[in-house]
Amino acid sequence: MSEVLRGLSLTGRVAIVTGGSRGIGRAVVERLAGCGASVVVNYVSDEDAAKSCVEAARGLGAESLAVRADVARPEGADELVRATLERFGKIDILVCNAGVWDGAPVDELSEELWDRVIDINLKGTWTVCRAATPSLKLNGWGRVVLVSSTAGQRGEANYSNYAASKGGQIAFAKSLASELAPHGINVNAVAPGWVETEMCREAFADADVRRGIECAIPLGRVATTDDIAFPILFLCSEWARHITGEVININGGSVLCG
Ligand code: NAP
Repeated sequence: MSEVLRGLSLTGRVAIVTGGSRGIGRAVVERLAGCGASVVVNYVSDEDAAKSCVEAARGLGAESLAVRADVARPEGADELVRATLERFGKIDILVCNAGVWDGAPVDELSEELWDRVIDINLKGTWTVCRAATPSLKLNGWGRVVLVSSTAGQRGEANYSNYAASKGGQIAFAKSLASELAPHGINVNAVAPGWVETEMCREAFADADVRRGIECAIPLGRVATTDDIAFPILFLCSEWARHITGEVININGGSVLCG
């Protein structure tokens, strides 16, 4: 392998991917595993999906472990980090990907729905970063990637709670970038547009809606999960060693900002 390509190697690194069992998270797990990292697959309810993902990572030659933990609860995040340290002894890479997409017009938005989405997407990012930071600091090297959304950049009608959670993640990433840089930890966000996952299955079920979505994307198609996972892999690698506090847009050109 050339010295340049070696910059993508993650051999010896230990990664946690929250919501790693399905969708974007699973693609991230597989790409990190394929580059040599040991990967912890976090999930909250679908044990079969988590097991299948762990098997896929092992099939790529990586060590892998599934940990059920609700990231919206500080105790859940603490347990995720505890289980990772017990098995692998350290944490180098943290991908905060767990999330839900649910909303309502603002005058119909219940406190319960507001809290649920903010708690999983935004508070759940903080709980895991807080729990993992002491271990990341010990290494003097670390990568944190938050999976935000175009909704956090331009807003999203009828999903103001979701957009607020995703915008909050971007502000949080920038704050941690300067706070953790002295410890050798790079913190970045990615902002995907529409991605082919369970999360959007209902929206894509209507052929007219789907066509409208595709027409609004200059590159003409909805992203695959690997379209998101490859830039995340890049951010976790040596190739991105001087990038921190950045938001990478992965949206086929649908939102041109940053
Ligand atoms: P997905 O296919 O619905 O998968 C969601 C993942 O999050 C699952 O692994 C799920 O675990 C996990 N999860 C949900 N709540 C959790 C909790 N409280 N604690 C721990 N894990 C939890 O979603 P996706 O489309 O891959 O989305 C992943 C991320 O990308 C989200 O943050 C989302 O906002 C963002 N994003 C998605 C799109 C898109 O178009 N799909 C666009 C922009 C941004 P279980 O299976 O066990 O429930």
